[in-house]
Amino acid sequence: VDVPVEEKDLVIIGGGVAGYVAAIKAGQEGLKVACIEKRGTLGGTCLNVGCIPSKSLLNNSHLYHQILHDSKHRGIEVGDVKLNLAQLMKAKDQSVSGLTKGVEFLLKKNGVEYIKGAGSFADEHTVNVKLNDGGETSVKGKNILIATGSEVTPFPGLEIDEKRVISSTGAIALEKVPEKMLVIGGGIIGLEMASVWSRLGAQVTVIEFLDQIGGPGMDLEVAKSIQKILKKQGINFKTGTKVVSGDKSGETVKLEVDSAKGGKPETLEGDVVLVAIGRRPYTEGLGLENIGLEKDERGRIIIDSEYRTKIPHIRCVGDVTFGPMLAHKAEEEAVAAIEYIKKGYGHVNYGCIPSVMYTFPEVAWVGQSEQELKKAGVPYKVGTFPFSANSRAKTNLDTEGMVKMIADPETDRLLGVHIIGPNAGEMIAEGTLALEYGASSEDIARTCHAHPTLAEAFKEAAMATYSKAIHF
Ligand code: FAD
Ligand code: NAD
Repeated sequence: VDVPVEEKDLVIIGGGVAGYVAAIKAGQEGLKVACIEKRGTLGGTCLNVGCIPSKSLLNNSHLYHQILHDSKHRGIEVGDVKLNLAQLMKAKDQSVSGLTKGVEFLLKKNGVEYIKGAGSFADEHTVNVKLNDGGETSVKGKNILIATGSEVTPFPGLEIDEKRVISSTGAIALEKVPEKMLVIGGGIIGLEMASVWSRLGAQVTVIEFLDQIGGPGMDLEVAKSIQKILKKQGINFKTGTKVVSGDKSGETVKLEVDSAKGGKPETLEGDVVLVAIGRRPYTEGLGLENIGLEKDERGRIIIDSEYRTKIPHIRCVGDVTFGPMLAHKAEEEAVAAIEYIKKGYGHVNYGCIPSVMYTFPEVAWVGQSEQELKKAGVPYKVGTFPFSANSRAKTNLDTEGMVKMIADPETDRLLGVHIIGPNAGEMIAEGTLALEYGASSEDIARTCHAHPTLAEAFKEAAMATYSKAIHF
């Protein structure tokens, strides 16, 4: 490229959660930073087509569903309730654009140069950028951070057109409510999107290969319980069932499914099929081959415990490398990587990363599940407390779910917390903090919790773990 090459302390490729958080942190630390993003907006998958738009749809579809089906007995009688899908989508788009613009402001505030274009390694210190507005430029970095994220894993033989065969990106932008929707994969994306469209009136069937929904990380007892609750809400499930092939040549999209243990094959039909079988690291066009960087068998960029690739000044964080594909994990890693660059040390506690599924009720957990402890041969004790015995849940008429706590039988140290319930996603912060600080269940049980709150169920589950709950 025939332009003067500017040198930065840090060049970041990717302006998703991992990239933009690293950019802000590095700016705060006084580094000269450039952040390259090709999407046209900052925030990556999470802000543009992931966490944020999906939560907007989950929140507003829940309100719609609640007004329709859960208001009369509360003493609220409403007239004609109508869905305005275009407005629902507009509200979602407004949340997204407000937040992505907010991130752009934060980069500016912290002195980060935001380069709109696609970055590709020219050599170990130079990144060429194909600018979105045309033309090319080039930046040099003393350090480089790869934060290029992930993309949907396609289903072989069933091309995603985002209209009839959709990924999560199509699922947050449908123009009309499908009559029949099939969902391949009962992980978090499958269940959140199944909830949205089922609440808005679609007949939804989720097909999951494993015997449990929610992905293998979810505690089995919790997974069974939320499956029952979601079924009652109208979502159909086929667990232990594998989708073997798909065909979209006809009027409807057809899926051939097989019992995972080998049984009778069956054909299912839907107007829309959502492919939600996971995501894979994204490194297309990055030019890794130009600098000899390696990926593992799942396409993840290989790094050490300090986020360094085998070229020590090139680090990597977020979905494109190891670990759970979660925004808050990407964020923690981004901060730690900058701290390594600036100070030589940083830290992420991978045993303490919460997971939240934003269905209604929400499901949230941190630490280990019963099945993981059993598999590892670790002894444990369990305490539970149902929301049906919690005063706030009862006053709110939202009593489904429970708090389940797992602790070491000898030391009483907390090993895991699993919650199904209204606000579980907020409540798990307390469990995460307790786990991070190495609390015992008795520590939690002896901490005063305000009354009447849902958080009292958390305290009572802790009481049940080391002694007995008062209200159950
Ligand atoms: P990304 O967000 O994917 O960002 C990478 C960015 O890099 C992209 O914007 C891409 O355009 C850019 N890029 C790639 N290559 C180049 C290049 N060569 N040059 C320039 N730019 C490039 N996680 C949660 O924790 N909570 C949730 O509720 C949640 N909900 C989700 C819902 C959905 C539907 C989906 C799909 C995901 C959800 N996630 C959620 C996961 C979350 O979005 C990811 O874990 C997170 O976005 C990872 O951040 P990242 O920065 O590593 O990658
Ligand atoms: P996932 O890995 O969580 O779930 C995919 C599911 O599909 C698995 O349960 C798997 O057994 C099943 N599956 C795979 N092939 C199948 C087949 N042929 N037939 C039937 N079932 C099949 O992936 P996802 O739900 O696509 O989510 C992708 C990533 O995005 C995850 O890492 C997730 O953590 C993240 N995400 C997080 C949130 C959140 O935190 N609330 C929300 C959405 C997405």
